[in-house]
Amino acid sequence: MAAKSDRIVIKVGTSTLTNELGNSNLRTMEKLAMVLSDIQNMGHEVILVSSGAIAVGANKMHLKEKPKEMRMKQAAAAVGQCTNMFLYDKFFGYYDKMVGQILLNADDIKEEEKKENLSNTFSALLEQGVIPIVNENDSVSYKEIESEERLFSDNDVLSAVVAVLCQADKLIILSDIDGFYDKDPRLFKDAKLIERIDVIDDAVYELAGGAGSRRGTGGMRTKLQAADIATAQGIDTVVTNGKDPAILFKVVAGESVGTLFKGHR
Ligand code: ADP
Repeated sequence: MAAKSDRIVIKVGTSTLTNELGNSNLRTMEKLAMVLSDIQNMGHEVILVSSGAIAVGANKMHLKEKPKEMRMKQAAAAVGQCTNMFLYDKFFGYYDKMVGQILLNADDIKEEEKKENLSNTFSALLEQGVIPIVNENDSVSYKEIESEERLFSDNDVLSAVVAVLCQADKLIILSDIDGFYDKDPRLFKDAKLIERIDVIDDAVYELAGGAGSRRGTGGMRTKLQAADIATAQGIDTVVTNGKDPAILFKVVAGESVGTLFKGHR
């Protein structure tokens, strides 16, 4: 795939896409579609990595709580993925944009032939001005949903793998928090935002704590893993707050928002 100088991968998590009740956060999704459409209008290529299928599906199926059983999780993912794509198609459609769904498993990227096919698909979509929307193939895979490694947990790592596969210039991970702090700000009032990190070593991992918010699943740890993978390939990675997607305009303009993990060149 030919690398372009303005290819951006944006990842949104469950806590950005759903509200406190677990319903779709329509305002944020609609604004995200507007902002990404406008960023594409500005000449950038945009790839969206979006999770949230299980939470949205569970809510739509009126399940009383987040499903614990694997088969119910996968059923919820099947329903929620449809809902999310329907909403994205509609919201991006307002701005005359086409979207295309790509569902991935970890194994798809490990096998050379599948990897090449995927890369070709991305490049054809981007060439046609389509905004690819990527998610884990939750209804097929089980490793990603449940594995101890949580290889692609809540899509943070998946977004980095996609950024590397597509030779993106920037990876932007939207979270429910303003960026990476020197300790968990939900536990410590005096936590300070770190604006830039050049090396992700064990000391940085120590600051991340365990899994994150109730609705999100990755926490900062998986965001660090993502930043680690992307920066190793020279891709600048920004972690910032997704509650107002307009923040993406600032990131794209190179303004300092959230935490920048500098790509190694
Ligand atoms: P999302 O669903 O948006 O991906 P997560 O809930 O998975 O978000 O991860 C973000 C959460 O990680 C924050 O809300 C915060 O409570 C937690 N966290 C743990 N350590 C840190 C840290 N050092 N800096 C920022 N957030 C942290």
